[in-house]
Amino acid sequence: MGDADERDDGHTPGERRRIGNDRLAEQAVGLRFQVDVRVPFWCECDDQDCGVVVPLTLPDYRDLCATGDALLAPDHLRARADGARQTARSLRESARALRNEAAQARRASRRRRNVGG
Ligand SMILES: [Zn+2]
Repeated sequence: MGDADERDDGHTPGERRRIGNDRLAEQAVGLRFQVDVRVPFWCECDDQDCGVVVPLTLPDYRDLCATGDALLAPDHLRARADGARQTARSLRESARALRNEAAQARRASRRRRNVGG
């Protein structure tokens, strides 16, 4: 107990800090933090020993989570997984673009029928 090796849980140090930051955000919501109050989130870089605090408001943190990016102090880096995440994001974007095109084509053909009818 106490000195279990936390490196062996399948998460990078940055991913673990994101989990902690998510909890922090939940607590801040529970405590009714004002939207302009900065919460002391952890830098989510992949340096095991990084203890840098990055103050961020809850709305800013949510925006960041929505983009899928890591919360990083200046000059800190996410070493791993960024390439894979970027690929996943561009795949999602092209899937969305295809769906939009299909929806537009459906609307266009409906319009044509309405005009002709
Ligand atoms: Zn860091």
